[in-house]
Amino acid sequence: MIFNYEFETLPREALEALQLKRLQQVAARCYHTVSFYRKAFDNAKVKPEDIKSLDDLRRLPFTVKQDLRDNYPFGLFTVPMNNVVRLHASTGTTGNATVVGYTKRDIETWAELMARCFSAAGLTSNDIIHNAYGYGLFTGGLGAHYGAEKLGASVIPMSGGSTKRQIVILQDFGPTAICCTPSYALFLAEAGKDMGVDMRALKLRVGILGAEPWSERMRQEIEDKLNITALNIYGLSEIIGPGVSMECAEAKNGMHIFEDNFIVECINPVSGEPVPYGQPGELVFTTITKEAFPLIRYRTKDMSCLHPEPCRCGRTFVKMERVTGRSDDMLIIRGVNVYPSQIESVLLNIEGLEPHYQLVVDREGTLDTLEVQVEVSEKVFSDEVRILQKLEKRLTKDIKDLLGVSAKVKLVEPKTLQRFEGKAQRVTDKRKI
Ligand SMILES: [Zn+2]
Repeated sequence: MIFNYEFETLPREALEALQLKRLQQVAARCYHTVSFYRKAFDNAKVKPEDIKSLDDLRRLPFTVKQDLRDNYPFGLFTVPMNNVVRLHASTGTTGNATVVGYTKRDIETWAELMARCFSAAGLTSNDIIHNAYGYGLFTGGLGAHYGAEKLGASVIPMSGGSTKRQIVILQDFGPTAICCTPSYALFLAEAGKDMGVDMRALKLRVGILGAEPWSERMRQEIEDKLNITALNIYGLSEIIGPGVSMECAEAKNGMHIFEDNFIVECINPVSGEPVPYGQPGELVFTTITKEAFPLIRYRTKDMSCLHPEPCRCGRTFVKMERVTGRSDDMLIIRGVNVYPSQIESVLLNIEGLEPHYQLVVDREGTLDTLEVQVEVSEKVFSDEVRILQKLEKRLTKDIKDLLGVSAKVKLVEPKTLQRFEGKAQRVTDKRKI
């Protein structure tokens, strides 16, 4: 289903003309109202009037997370505070949090984008949406909430945590869709089972899952344990929050980026040069409709691939693959580039291993070591030691084959590794360099 048929199916030529017009407007507003942008444009020897085609976007400077921190809290806003109706912030683990602001129209834009996402998932005003994304400074909760209301669905503003209560509400209110992180969906499935609830018998039929990288195998596991269709949603607070892109239920293969609101680029994270369609690179977004806090060429650090091929759902927007990791999460182990998601993809392909794992990186003498701790399933754990040893061997070999690095594999009992209600922290780097 398509929420905004006119825009979501725009022919390429019309879409690009719209993007150019909006880009010119946003570049001019940034340049004339924010001293950071004026300096950055001047340094790059480019003026807003120089943008005559979409290719000219590449003449504009990148924006990075540090620029947001340097201008904490409101230094990059292009409107006076009396036009800002909402503030959100990300809790940075280091340095200042990044703060984002919205005008009334920005909130409407965002609500429409989220309504488009729910429509793409096949939801209508007949659905009840259990929203387990965190409410508060985090954009997930309120973003999904306004979108669900815009669609006309019934929203349960559950927020995160209180897992037992969530299970009770899932049983009693009979929501047909759930929004949360994929790891929390699995966590709920396990917790419900422990409470003696048949989680496959709930009325849930769709999961709108995102805010952390996950794999195809994890999707299968969630779909199996909750008896739902699990769809991927993507967004980040800097760009607008959730609702930057969404997988359509028709193809269930990549997320359509709402290109009438965002111009996307995919670049080589080292050189900054564009990579061809279908090749992995870092996603870069320019917001072209946001008023309070537009961003020009924002480097997300999220690694993905773009696909322009037509989709059976009828949307003309380019699709991005699931995020496979972060360009700054990349671990360099004995000189080899390793993304945690690559290890995840290996272990999820092995029967008997659970999608709960931790990577511990350390250094012995001058040599980096990588330990992969993975939970095994209940069934395997109660089996003979020989089976465990076989699994351990297989995983060690598969990691070595894919990544070219040797890892020490440690299989652990079910439910012994930490669970995460928000973004999972998979890596502990103990190296002191
Ligand atoms: Zn589609």
